Amino acid sequence: MDYASRQSRLAAEIRNKKISCLLITHLPNVRYLCGFSGSSGALLLVAGRRGHSLTFFTDGRYTQQAGDEVQGAKIVIAGKPALFAAVERALKSSTEALGFEAEYLPYASFQQLRSLTRGQLRLKPAAGLVEQLRIRKDAEEVERIRSAVQLGSDLFPAALSAIRPGVAETEVAAALELNARRAGADGMSFETIVAAGVRSALPHGRASRQAIPASGFIILDYGVILAGYCSDMTRTVHVGPISAEHRRMYEAVHEAQVAGIQAVRPGVETGAVDRAGREILKSAGYDAYFTHSTGHGVGLEIHEQPRLAKGQKQKLEPGMVVTIEPGIYVPGDGGVRIEDMVLVTDSGRQVLTPTSKELITL
Ligand code: ZN
Ligand code: ZN
Repeated sequence: MDYASRQSRLAAEIRNKKISCLLITHLPNVRYLCGFSGSSGALLLVAGRRGHSLTFFTDGRYTQQAGDEVQGAKIVIAGKPALFAAVERALKSSTEALGFEAEYLPYASFQQLRSLTRGQLRLKPAAGLVEQLRIRKDAEEVERIRSAVQLGSDLFPAALSAIRPGVAETEVAAALELNARRAGADGMSFETIVAAGVRSALPHGRASRQAIPASGFIILDYGVILAGYCSDMTRTVHVGPISAEHRRMYEAVHEAQVAGIQAVRPGVETGAVDRAGREILKSAGYDAYFTHSTGHGVGLEIHEQPRLAKGQKQKLEPGMVVTIEPGIYVPGDGGVRIEDMVLVTDSGRQVLTPTSKELITL
């Protein structure tokens, strides 16, 4: 990973924002900037006129891991929480304002930060600076995402073969998760969704002990983390004889999902991608049942920028990786969602998820 270029782009960014010193505590941002994948650490970036310096703070549990992983930053193993060690270092640098990640610093930590810096350093909320760098993936990140997406797709047949009326949703989730770990996944990128029968009308129906009914839709939405990067896919299958109405629901979502994908290209507002699928569902009479947004960015985290939602003005750019996942949910009956991951390319898009979207009935 090209940590040096990420670090200097962030340094340039904070100089533009007139923040000479930035405290980074959100761990995915720490990992993005210096490679540290452990669960406790903080980075301090000081950007002066003559260049920048980066210091990574962690505790004794991570001495070896920090040495193995951290790149482009001086490592300090502190005898106190990383956050405070970083602030003490900031107090020693000739800086007046300390930027912090306002969306991620807990209020109690903020209060401690305030009492440590009172009268010496101005605290400046700085939101989204690293996230704005992360929004466009570089070639190495795209390769990792491709591998994660491929692994996610490879697991789908195991889920299908676990699906039978009477089997608990958690059994299906277990088949996916066991195979994911066996294939080398770091873990799942979120709690596996297996929602069968009337539960498929819950957009986020986490796998429960409920048994799969003799007939109805089953939504499977899951992802793996592989070498730090997340995948995310949804397929909906049907058990038992399918009614004409359910077939119509499936086809409407399928068509909307394809329309969303086709709307993806550089320069297009993410709100327009959302609209493309929504209009298809409207003409099929299902738009009232499409109760969430069309998609989100994916990378080191499962939900990243950009958001693909109604009215969003952000424009797509090459290197963004997003999901396209329209769905409809009819309470008391069932739901359908189909989700792929899509890479924005220089000239359009590339669908990363290889799994077929033709209706599967079991
Ligand atoms: Zn998903
Ligand atoms: Zn998703």
